[in-house]
Amino acid sequence: MLNILKTSIVNANIARVSRNFASLVNLDEPVFLDNKNPFEKERQKCILCEMDITPDFKNVKLLSQFQSQYTGRIYGRHITGLCKTKQNQVENAIIRAQNAAMMPGYHKDLDFIDDPKLFDPERPVRPHKY
Ligand SMILES: [Zn+2]
Repeated sequence: MLNILKTSIVNANIARVSRNFASLVNLDEPVFLDNKNPFEKERQKCILCEMDITPDFKNVKLLSQFQSQYTGRIYGRHITGLCKTKQNQVENAIIRAQNAAMMPGYHKDLDFIDDPKLFDPERPVRPHKY
């Protein structure tokens, strides 16, 4: 008898508490999260933007990574993976460093200056012969 009375009191208390909770928070209302898309991907950044580096013509060690060590050719965006602005800055810095004789460029030796041009080193793949 006493157990039944205790459980009924406890049940009444639980019902009262849950009613009070329900009056504070309307459970039927929609829950609004932040207006951000939770599935949005993080924007891709190139390595120079990520590290916040501005290429400078005096920083030859950095610039030499964007240039072929054999020919001195400046690598394109598909190889460096830089964004357009940083690629332009890197190219301008390399050309400026080459003009300042801080970096090597490529040029023909004087003995071979009269030789016919076999291919364009900027476009190594020849067009189809047909
Ligand atoms: Zn970038």
